[in-house]
Amino acid sequence: MANKINRRQFLQTGIALGGAGLTGQGVLADNSVQKKPATIVASGRFSAPAAIPVKKGPRVVIVGAGWSGLTMAKYLKRQNPKFDVVLLDKNEQFVSCPISNVWMADQVNLEFLTHSYVEAAQNNDYLFLQATALELDRDSKTLVTTLGSIRYDYLVLAPGIDYDYGRIGVEDPEQEYALRMQYPAGFSNHSEIMAIKHKLNRFEGGTFLMTVPAGNYRCMAAPYERACMAAAIFRKNNVQAKIHLLDMNPDIRIKADGFKKAFAQYYGDIIEYESSASITAVNLQDKEIETDFDSYGFDDAVIYPPVRAASIIEDFGLSDPASAQKEASIDPFKYHLLDDEYIYVTGDSRSQPFSKSGNTASSEARYVAEVIAAHANGKEIDWRSPQTMCFSGVRIDPLESMSIIAFYQYDQVDKTFAFDRVHLMEQWNARAGQAGLAWAEGLFRDMFYS
Ligand SMILES: Cc1cc2nc3c(=O)[nH]c(=O)nc-3n(C[C@H](O)[C@H](O)[C@H](O)COP(=O)(O)OP(=O)(O)OC[C@H]3O[C@@H](n4cnc5c(N)ncnc54)[C@H](O)[C@@H]3O)c2cc1C
Repeated sequence: MANKINRRQFLQTGIALGGAGLTGQGVLADNSVQKKPATIVASGRFSAPAAIPVKKGPRVVIVGAGWSGLTMAKYLKRQNPKFDVVLLDKNEQFVSCPISNVWMADQVNLEFLTHSYVEAAQNNDYLFLQATALELDRDSKTLVTTLGSIRYDYLVLAPGIDYDYGRIGVEDPEQEYALRMQYPAGFSNHSEIMAIKHKLNRFEGGTFLMTVPAGNYRCMAAPYERACMAAAIFRKNNVQAKIHLLDMNPDIRIKADGFKKAFAQYYGDIIEYESSASITAVNLQDKEIETDFDSYGFDDAVIYPPVRAASIIEDFGLSDPASAQKEASIDPFKYHLLDDEYIYVTGDSRSQPFSKSGNTASSEARYVAEVIAAHANGKEIDWRSPQTMCFSGVRIDPLESMSIIAFYQYDQVDKTFAFDRVHLMEQWNARAGQAGLAWAEGLFRDMFYS
């Protein structure tokens, strides 16, 4: 992420400003009294208390105002109006990733995807800060942000994902930067998604390469949906294009029969699907992607690498070294760190193998809000499965979609979660197209209105 400051850079900034680090407890002030420290320390701009109202009850600070954090903030207040909830995000407004593929093909406008954090906070009685979380001091229960330090009683980390370019053989930071700029993945922020919309609509013909990562990546169906939308755009624009869809997995990961049928039935002349393509390198100069067995040239591309938990999980020292996706070790039913019942990790950063999707994050957040409220009362509640719900656009004008709704169950023998009660609709139609938009609208209303 362009505006991410990692722990090392942040400490260097502190040193440059005057020679001291930030984590010493002496420089961290208590928001409950809202006093500025008597002495300005080296990085006083960040370590001084954030200028926010004095807390009026147990303070829950939430990092990340995505599908998880927004829902969490609202439902924590519903569970216990005495909670003093502070939600922070580095972005100034919310732009939805779900529905963005069909937005690229002009099936909804940008206003449909865009929502105000100010309104969400006003309507649901919590504080919103546009700030980046930088440092965590667990001993003093203090989070340092770009707006100052905030003391918490509970901390919820819901920062989403970051890309892991190392897993497609890209280790050089300059090459990674060039990839992020020239061939953005479009699975984490709207600048990338907008750049992809423009490149799809300006493409003049030739080979357009798209990739599907391995591992538990964000939104299983979305790379295949995006290929359908890209093909529909090229056809609408009368562009002679081939989409080479390189999948690092042995098969289409979800709604496989539906996508295979759609590729063959509508886009047989455009989409060429290839499975088990283990990407090992990207050669930017020659515009080629290398796999174990082959290399593939392209005129333009959208390169989606495998993902990992957002980097602050690692920067805060919470990543489990054994986790391939750098996730924290959390209680799989209660979501708190195994060694700290006051810090929770939710949404796409979680370590459970649930689908990394907005509906999963939102339904899970309602449950975790209850878990935290119960914990504050010295109680526990029964585990409740999150719910995954995902609509995928296949055709446009009118939008035709297919869908899946599923829950999860815990397998006591394998000690992991698996899908439960799966409702799969792989026959796309216009009614499901409208249902997908209504689903998103319903969740936007839930997150942004009271
Ligand atoms: C193209 C596409 C289509 C999709 N379609 C669907 C769909 O049909 N259905 C569905 O359910 N899901 C879908 N998803 C997936 C969905 O977008 C994600 O699963 C969802 O956004 C996860 O929510 P989250 O709150 O965990 O993370 P996010 O929504 O990414 O929110 C994390 C937030 O944390 C903030 N943040 C990160 N680090 C910091 C920091 N240090 N300080 C402050 N803020 C920070 C980020 O700015 C971000 O706003 C789709 C995704 C894409 C890209």
